[in-house]
Amino acid sequence: MICPNCNTPNPTAGKFCINCGSSLPQAPAPAPVVQPVAAPAQNASPLPLGAASALPSWAASKVVVTDVKMPFASMVVFMIKWSLAAIPALIILLVLAAIVSAVLGGVLGGLLYNGF
Ligand SMILES: [Zn+2]
Repeated sequence: MICPNCNTPNPTAGKFCINCGSSLPQAPAPAPVVQPVAAPAQNASPLPLGAASALPSWAASKVVVTDVKMPFASMVVFMIKWSLAAIPALIILLVLAAIVSAVLGGVLGGLLYNGF
């Protein structure tokens, strides 16, 4: 802090000049360094407008089936494809049923054999 009266360098903490004793203008508080606190971009919104387009088309599109109107042949083809697609599920269900029945049968059989 340079004394405005006598141009003597003073420690910044002093309120009066060490040379002439005149009051020193208070050193301004260290200006808070304004950090740019990650100023959000003006065009950054939590859900960008392009989010819908980022989704797959099958997820973004809403399928509203009001009535199934298709030719009989395509209906048959559709049913065949559906049944073919259901085969793996049926296999899985059968395997699960077999496991469950085997376990239950073993438990029940063991109980029965132990009971008698
Ligand atoms: Zn001074």
